[in-house]
Amino acid sequence: MKYPYIIDGHCDSLIHFVDGARTLQDPSEGGHWDTPRAKMAGVSLQFLAAYIETRYKPSMATCRGLQLIEGAHRFIVDHPDQVFLVRTKKDLTRIPDPACIGILLSVEGGEIIGQNLFMLDIIYHLGVRALGLTWNQRNALADGVDEVDTQSKLTKLGQKVVLRMNELGMLIDVSHLNEAGFWHVLELSRDPIVATHSCAKALCNHPRNLTDQQLRALGKQKGVVGVNFYPSFLRETGLATREDVVRHICHIAEVAGVETVGLGSDFDGISEVPKGLEHVGDYSYLMDDLIKVGFTSQEVEQIAGRNFMSLLSNVLK
Ligand SMILES: [Zn+2]
Repeated sequence: MKYPYIIDGHCDSLIHFVDGARTLQDPSEGGHWDTPRAKMAGVSLQFLAAYIETRYKPSMATCRGLQLIEGAHRFIVDHPDQVFLVRTKKDLTRIPDPACIGILLSVEGGEIIGQNLFMLDIIYHLGVRALGLTWNQRNALADGVDEVDTQSKLTKLGQKVVLRMNELGMLIDVSHLNEAGFWHVLELSRDPIVATHSCAKALCNHPRNLTDQQLRALGKQKGVVGVNFYPSFLRETGLATREDVVRHICHIAEVAGVETVGLGSDFDGISEVPKGLEHVGDYSYLMDDLIKVGFTSQEVEQIAGRNFMSLLSNVLK
């Protein structure tokens, strides 16, 4: 069965493109994500992340972030027959386009704005529609999940960023944020929030995963969790199969409601992949598995992408 919306909340393939390692046009180049395989799998919208690697922080973070954003635009301009940029609610009406994959530009790491709120507006004008407030470390907005002992909430700048993101119509991504920061964002944001690539802590006790309490609260506020495919987030042994992705999907649906579940592969950002879900072309097997474990085709449609579509229609202007 073909699903009208397959939406993936996170991949890091843009780095490979910008650094010249891959064109993202040819599966024989390797990697997890490229347009031929994404099209074959029926992906209708891909969140393309500008992930700012640790070695650029803090002094070169803005520059690197802008370089990645420029790369994303170059990729889109060079392939108008394959991808298009989604910036507005109106752009969402083009999805699903049978020939073209929508691209939602996201930035992973508030370091891109440094200490400057105006930089948020600049990246918005450059087409960015989702921002992860932190990666794993502390920055000027908040603490990431590596800051285990601080219990710090958002900084003053971080709070202003949340409010401004609400005004602009940007998705606030809490995937790498520490728990105190997570609750602070929920308290401040008038829009639903997103964890673009996270799993359930009850099934795998990893600092990057969300507790049942967090999942419930995020769902209650009409947010979405994109289930991450990284084996170390799926199973404490670090060895996982497609079945483990299904387990996390089932758990989040049970705890927070099926309307809270989405997909957030983290393809090309993860060093290992689950057996049977090794690249974007394998998506259809996952959908088949969800039917096998008892989800209705309508529920699979929601998980595959409709939930992300609803969230985006709620938040984008
Ligand atoms: Zn990440």
